[in-house]
Amino acid sequence: MVQTVRKVVIAGGGTAGWIAAATLSSQLSRLLDITLIESDAIGTVGVGEATIPTQKAFHRLIGIDEQAFMRATRASFKLGIAFENWGQLGDRYIHSFGKIGRSTWMGDFQHMWHYAKSQGWAGDMDDYCFELQAAEAGKFATSPDSQISYAYHLDASLYAKFLRTFSEERGAKRLEGKIKQVHTHPDTGFIESLDLEDGQSVAGDLFIDCTGFRALLINGALGVDYEDWSHWLPMNSALAVQTKLSGDILPYTRSIARKAGWQWRIPLQHRVGNGHVYCSDHLSDDEAHAILMDNLDGELVSQPRPIRFLTGKRKEAWAKNCIALGLSSGFLEPLESTSIHLIQIGATRLVQMFPFNGVSEALRNHYNSYSTAELESIRDFLILHYKLNRRQDSAFWQERAALEVPDTLKHRMELYADAAIAYQDDSDLFRVDSWNQVMRGQGLDSHGYHPMGRLVANGQLQAALADLKAGIDRSVKNMPTHADFLRQYCAVE
Ligand code: FAD
Repeated sequence: MVQTVRKVVIAGGGTAGWIAAATLSSQLSRLLDITLIESDAIGTVGVGEATIPTQKAFHRLIGIDEQAFMRATRASFKLGIAFENWGQLGDRYIHSFGKIGRSTWMGDFQHMWHYAKSQGWAGDMDDYCFELQAAEAGKFATSPDSQISYAYHLDASLYAKFLRTFSEERGAKRLEGKIKQVHTHPDTGFIESLDLEDGQSVAGDLFIDCTGFRALLINGALGVDYEDWSHWLPMNSALAVQTKLSGDILPYTRSIARKAGWQWRIPLQHRVGNGHVYCSDHLSDDEAHAILMDNLDGELVSQPRPIRFLTGKRKEAWAKNCIALGLSSGFLEPLESTSIHLIQIGATRLVQMFPFNGVSEALRNHYNSYSTAELESIRDFLILHYKLNRRQDSAFWQERAALEVPDTLKHRMELYADAAIAYQDDSDLFRVDSWNQVMRGQGLDSHGYHPMGRLVANGQLQAALADLKAGIDRSVKNMPTHADFLRQYCAVE
């Protein structure tokens, strides 16, 4: 085999650029020459601070030490997301990262639970999820052999810095400068080099577009269009602002539905990230600003910053010899904190499918079909939150409830309503428990379920549920508070 692709150029040094650099340099540095170009003058989008549990696996894979990462990025632990006002005003539920109860091959826990509930033997379904109960109690602990499922809240700019040091130590080179022009081959259309404003020219075999919403390479140079999903997810604006910590460091993200959007609260060790995602067709920027400012705790440590976006995906994430990662590849609002995961999975997939002996159509198609399927599944999961609202207080929420959803999602909702069946396909990021918690949390009830509970001998199901709950309650009671655990875990030796 002749290695024809060796020189990788990463355009952009936000979270996406440095994740790409960290992944490639930690895994393939002996085979590749990696250069990252970023512009200090342009800067980064500066948001993206809540993650999902795959981040832990990603860090382990590329060799990042959890405590070092948490200290460097002032991170906190995240056990899930509390959705407030999403079903209707005053409602609240937690989508936790944990498993609910115990499932069997015949069916998931919810079938057993439905039967037990009908007999008066079961409490709320949430009682049987350890992570959810720990989140509610503000508790957290982990150790190398613990099974607890969690993610992190992190400071985005500190994370990019941390990954930069990690990548440079593993051989990635950084160039500061503004990309002025992209040169493509006149026959093949492949990208050949990037010209910087200071006169340098950087040639490469493979280019990774991490230039954020600008999409300088994949769109600017290669003209790959965008598939607009705003008819399903019409949010198009956000205001982000940081406040000082006030009160407890919650081990979960808060997502609070507002008049035509929702507000996030992401607690870190040193501050809270806040933002208001909204739909400008229904809410003026001034109104959105007022709603955000009226609903903050703690002193401001930055001024509100507006961000515009269009929900959707790049038609091809990999075109010619260019792969788009991060915001250049598409954007789904951060309702379930999925964007950083998508960068990580894109970068690790590139390691698996790296085109050492030339870019082929088969490789590109394979990569693109994976990323399309993943995005479509996440898109459906996000739409679900909106579709199942029962709010009557604004035209925005009523329109969301009346929305014609994709057939794939319609099928899931019917299956759950008819037979209490939730499922995770190969391309689904979210597990059965996630679909289950959000469908129930948003008020979708099941008319039928598998009567497997009736197969259990008299008294045994009741006793098993009581044991399960008692075990969870005991474990949560014995855990330290999240703040205490963080202090001890992140203390500098
Ligand atoms: P950017 O951060 O914009 O980086 C682009 C880089 O390209 C910068 O380094 C810039 O300098 C460089 N660049 C651009 N043009 C040039 C040029 N001409 N020359 C040289 N360099 C150039 N994700 C989550 O997982 N969880 C969240 O909670 C979450 N919240 C979000 C909230 C909002 C409102 C938004 C908009 C996004 C959120 N995201 C979240 C997504 C997350 O922020 C991004 O996926 C992540 O930050 C990656 O961004 P990026 O690196 O693609 O782009």
